[in-house]
Amino acid sequence: MNQLSDRINNLATSATLAMAAKARELRAEGKDIIGLSLGEPDFNTPDFIKEAAIEAINQNYNSYTPVDGYVELKEAIITKFKRDNNLNYSLPQIVVSTGAKQALANVAAVMINPGDEVILPCPYWVSYSDIVKLSDGVPVEVQTSIDNDFKMTAEQLEAAITPKTKMIWYSSPCNPSGSVYSKEELRALADVLKKHPHIYVVSDEIYEHINFKGGHFSMAEFEDMYDRTVTVNGVSKAFAMTGWRIGYIGAPDWIARACNKMQGQITSGANCIAQRAVITALEADPSRIKYMVDEFKERRKLILDLLSEIEGFKTNEPEGAFYVFPNVSSYFGKTIKGKTINNASDFSLFLLEEALVATVTGEAFGNPDCIRISYAASQDNIKEAIKRIKSALS
Ligand code: PLP
Repeated sequence: MNQLSDRINNLATSATLAMAAKARELRAEGKDIIGLSLGEPDFNTPDFIKEAAIEAINQNYNSYTPVDGYVELKEAIITKFKRDNNLNYSLPQIVVSTGAKQALANVAAVMINPGDEVILPCPYWVSYSDIVKLSDGVPVEVQTSIDNDFKMTAEQLEAAITPKTKMIWYSSPCNPSGSVYSKEELRALADVLKKHPHIYVVSDEIYEHINFKGGHFSMAEFEDMYDRTVTVNGVSKAFAMTGWRIGYIGAPDWIARACNKMQGQITSGANCIAQRAVITALEADPSRIKYMVDEFKERRKLILDLLSEIEGFKTNEPEGAFYVFPNVSSYFGKTIKGKTINNASDFSLFLLEEALVATVTGEAFGNPDCIRISYAASQDNIKEAIKRIKSALS
């Protein structure tokens, strides 16, 4: 008999991790799967960061850290926020967590009461919806259109707001669409929020540095939004440090203190060696990681060019992150190689089984017409994967 709580029984398995597991299974059977499903840079962590970690081990950093992170790391985060985002935070406003994922889970736990609504512009990062649900919140999906570069407009935001709306969560650059909100677009959303002072914003900026057009803007830069915005960031993506598990927030101090309290009961401080290494990562000039961004930019061009040769893939031009999110709905209802494709999940599974390429269904991101393809893979793998997809569909 299932004795588990409703909470866990109702929780979806992360679709990206599920696809990675399925791909691993097929690989174990000897199939040559090309993985374009995970949101993970295929670079090594830069040497100067690894050296800082080795030094920290040798200096015997091995004890519990302050729950909200070493002061030196929080100071480096404050300097980074000032340098890159023109944001002024003080020490009590910063909390370091075990990845941006924990930072987001903390915010949900301390802000959401049962029944509170959280507006999620679709497509959204795969975990937002379930993190909100775990806190008994109600995700409210706002469908955007590829013609508007998958961005929520002020009118759509206004229409989604109810007296129960507590928060809005979005990422810019966006996982999975790669869309980047401009200052003007954010201002238009902020103007709507002016009329609804009870609503708070989570601005997830973890892909900040992987931005091909430049001009990253943070919602908290607007004076009237500073006290209503939690700015989430981390080192997983830009510094190729997914496994080190360090993320952080800059927030109004009452929210940060609550996250600190929450974290103090469930995990305590993040890993001590990783925290020391991240001081070095954040103090470095962002030009030291530009080689990775340049390579992502080349791969973006490559994959967009190759996808444009396949009929039925309609995509926006992503301005950041390392994903494309093509609309593949023109295939729905068709039968190819004896397999009927009714939705994005069928399509993604078809690509896995027939093209041996792992992607992720858009359903997991709140958009059932698209699939997500990660180009955090070598150019050779991208070329081979798209060749296989083209041939499987022809
Ligand atoms: N936010 C977004 C938009 C992401 O894509 C991810 C990871 O895929 C995260 C947060 C979580 O990052 P972390 O590895 O720091 O937990």
